[in-house]
Amino acid sequence: MSNYRDKYDVVIGLEVHAQLNTKSKAYSNDPNEFGAIPNTNISPVTLGHPGTLPKPNTEVINHAIRLGLACGSEITKEMHYARKNYFYPDLPKGYQITQDTTPICTGGKILIKKEDGTPKEINITRIHMEEDAGKSMHDQDPFDTLVDLNRAGVPLVEIVTEPEMRSSTEAYSYLTEIRKLVRYLDICDGNMEEGSLRCDANISIMPKGSTKFGERCEVKNMNSIRNVQRAIEHEIDRQAEIIENGGTIHMETRNFNAVDGTTTALRSKEQAHDYRYFPEPDLQPLLVTQDQIEAIRSELPPLPNDLFKKYCEEYGLTEYDATVLTDSKGIALYFEQLIAETSNYKAAANWVINSVKSHLNKNAQEINEFPLAPKAIADLIKLIEEGKISNAAATQRIFPALVQAPKKSALDLANELNLIQESDEGELERIVQSVFDNNPSETERLKGGEKKLIGFFMGQIMKESKGKADPKSTNKIIQKLLQ
Ligand code: ADP
Ligand code: MG
Repeated sequence: MSNYRDKYDVVIGLEVHAQLNTKSKAYSNDPNEFGAIPNTNISPVTLGHPGTLPKPNTEVINHAIRLGLACGSEITKEMHYARKNYFYPDLPKGYQITQDTTPICTGGKILIKKEDGTPKEINITRIHMEEDAGKSMHDQDPFDTLVDLNRAGVPLVEIVTEPEMRSSTEAYSYLTEIRKLVRYLDICDGNMEEGSLRCDANISIMPKGSTKFGERCEVKNMNSIRNVQRAIEHEIDRQAEIIENGGTIHMETRNFNAVDGTTTALRSKEQAHDYRYFPEPDLQPLLVTQDQIEAIRSELPPLPNDLFKKYCEEYGLTEYDATVLTDSKGIALYFEQLIAETSNYKAAANWVINSVKSHLNKNAQEINEFPLAPKAIADLIKLIEEGKISNAAATQRIFPALVQAPKKSALDLANELNLIQESDEGELERIVQSVFDNNPSETERLKGGEKKLIGFFMGQIMKESKGKADPKSTNKIIQKLLQ
């Protein structure tokens, strides 16, 4: 770590590309699928052959609006597509169809967490629609670079933030929230390793307390949220080192090397592309109506922040519990179904966070593969509340058995496993009395006020009842018989 970094503040703005999970591509009906045999999803439209015309995919527009509404952005009603021109082997048309001066969404916010855990809003500058390029593969053949054009024309949205993040942790939190959001909205799988979510980080530093931003560098090629954080940490040190040694930072694009966590220069501002943007002549301007926007708004799923707030404020759960429950949409929806069956929110949260999630982890399963309906968990909670089974029996014995036999009812299983607690007062009284009779000297000492013997008696009574004595009722009966 640089000795100088304490003298500087960092400023970060992120550009995130999210690949949309539509069935077909952005401007053609070629399938949009990851992992197909190379160069199979490439009609003449994707290849930009002369005489072909692009046709906008309505799903792409709807997905972009969904995201904009979820962020509280302004949706643009009248816009046009733009051509971004550059030459590259994996760009068959020689240009991308994107948006330039009229992005589909402007403004909006993402709520993140600062280093100390307090909330902070990051403003979104714009969200626009784009299409992806193909993929050049440099590591498949010892001599040649191979090109797969299946990805060419796959729809993207680019989300650009204001330069408002002030640490690598804030950038980490922002990306975690974005990934969560696109997954909740079901517009992108959020998988950074497969490249469906990609991030370019713009990073600059300035003397502590200054308000005049420094010159920034843009770092590309990070395939995990953790690597974005590492790249930022490296840039802070690198830039501070240069400035302290009398140098200046020049605007440039840099590449992240995951192996050693460093960045290296790719191209300077002078070498930057001139994309010669102009309005796309092959596509009509795009109009979005208020009705269309309202229809999309009415179909928005519950969003993670709203659920988080509800769990903390209405259900009295801890922030930790609410965070774990809203981390993934599947878990949140399962919990939503569970609390439709029980109003014991704390118990419901505990069951999902402990038993259900650890079962999923152990078996490398997703929640949609989990065999138990929320109702089964609600039944367990009820049986515990009624004193029919103990919490320990429910979590350690009945839950695992239920997962193996999901068709059975919790009550039947508890009976089968002989785990119904004895709360029949008469029967309990008989057991307690016999334990007293068998241990006369301990009973005398307990009567004499030796409270620590309660543990001994509980143990004996549990043994006698084969673990089925309900502790609460047992305690009451001990006190009664001692009188
Ligand atoms: P470009 O068109 O060159 O990409 P933009 O204005 O679109 O430039 O900015 C790209 C990103 O850079 C945005 O996310 C923005 O917040 C961020 N940014 C701008 N200035 C700075 C700066 N001085 N330090 C860090 N990030 C910055
Ligand atoms: Mg940019």
